[in-house]
Amino acid sequence: MTVNQLALSILLASTALLTGAATPGEASSAPSQGRYRLPFADGTAVKVFDDFQTHRPAGREDLYAVNGKEPYRVVAAAAGRIMAIQDSYGEQQSGRSAALCHNNYVWIAHANGEWTNYSHIARGSVTDKARLKVGDRVKAGQYIGDEDAIGCAMLKHVHFEVAVPENRMPIDPGGFLQDNEGGKRERNPRFCSVPGELAKKGEEYVATGCARSEGARSDHLLQRWHE
Ligand SMILES: [Zn+2]
Repeated sequence: MTVNQLALSILLASTALLTGAATPGEASSAPSQGRYRLPFADGTAVKVFDDFQTHRPAGREDLYAVNGKEPYRVVAAAAGRIMAIQDSYGEQQSGRSAALCHNNYVWIAHANGEWTNYSHIARGSVTDKARLKVGDRVKAGQYIGDEDAIGCAMLKHVHFEVAVPENRMPIDPGGFLQDNEGGKRERNPRFCSVPGELAKKGEEYVATGCARSEGARSDHLLQRWHE
């Protein structure tokens, strides 16, 4: 076997592993395949308003920054590619059904097949301040916008999700995952700076980078979502 053949077989094996690990339909309590950093700038104190179990609907998390200076900077939880941006809304809404919420959001696809969502971001902060557009690659910890309460939000926070989307129609125009009954596509985010990795309601953590950038090595795998 030549070196090139060996490299190819390793690549194929790891592709199968990544695909298999991210198969949708498992219990929505499944932990994420990837390990992610908390989606705030380094050193930011982050509190958990609702965790994976307490959030309604379950399977998402609401995180907010404390003890610092606003606006709090939101960052990519891992390396990936920007799949969707909505940052044109500027209204804080409350008491509406999800279908009527005008949420700002960013979705990022990662090489392990999981996507991350950052919702309620400040108007214009993604496209104007962070200068991002759909298709851009981002590094773990890269600034993507400012924390806010745009859309159906009671307070400034980042609504965060890790999910394995449906391939052909991942999200609807409202930024919600398609084909996600019972939150079956959601994964409980494993965070590298959280003791035990899974965030808990009421706890406070400090956002830092992960020891090594996970998800950055198989970047070619992202290509298929960008066609
Ligand atoms: Zn939420």
